[in-house]
Amino acid sequence: MRIIFLGPPGAGKGTQSARLVKYLGIPHLSTGELLRQAVRQHTQAGTLAEPYMSSGQLVPDEIVLKLVDERLASDDCLAGAMFDGFPRNLRQAEALDRTLKAAGRPIDLVLELKVDDADVIKRLADRGRSDDRPEVIAERLRSYWNQTRPLLDYYRQKGILHTIKGDGAPDEVFERIKSAVAEAGGPQ
Ligand code: ADP
Repeated sequence: MRIIFLGPPGAGKGTQSARLVKYLGIPHLSTGELLRQAVRQHTQAGTLAEPYMSSGQLVPDEIVLKLVDERLASDDCLAGAMFDGFPRNLRQAEALDRTLKAAGRPIDLVLELKVDDADVIKRLADRGRSDDRPEVIAERLRSYWNQTRPLLDYYRQKGILHTIKGDGAPDEVFERIKSAVAEAGGPQ
């Protein structure tokens, strides 16, 4: 299966997506992780991306799309993939559609993990990653609402959007996710 995971930073996407890839046995394609790896390895993409990431802004599409295309070309992505933190705007969504259409491998399901802003801010403050400072959190939330939220309509229109309530214990949230996956055709 190919699944996109959407939700504001701090919604619990990290925890739930890790469980879901294990459950489905598909690779976890997290652009945040790919970018942090590029920064650690001092690649050209990493050097270009770093200032955007440390201020909470989106990294330019060209850099992200190249990393995603390279990762998707690996054999392990043939069986499926879970996209986490990507696409982040309409342009990335359209580029992903083109790539997957060319390969005859469409998206099966888009999961939106929904939580209140107040909960998001609290969860991020407790997490303590270096880009989790309050002003950077505010910028990441702004970019989610402005750029990523329009994707919900985009995928709703395609009939593949499932909204999951992100409140409650992690086990409860995961049960809701498993139901959505079953409805969309189940583990494949
Ligand atoms: P979070 O969901 O908590 O913001 P991520 O790990 O997804 O964390 O992303 C961390 C940072 O990496 C973002 O703030 C942004 O700068 C960059 N980033 C990740 N994915 C993308 C993407 N698809 N497009 C542009 N920038 C991205």
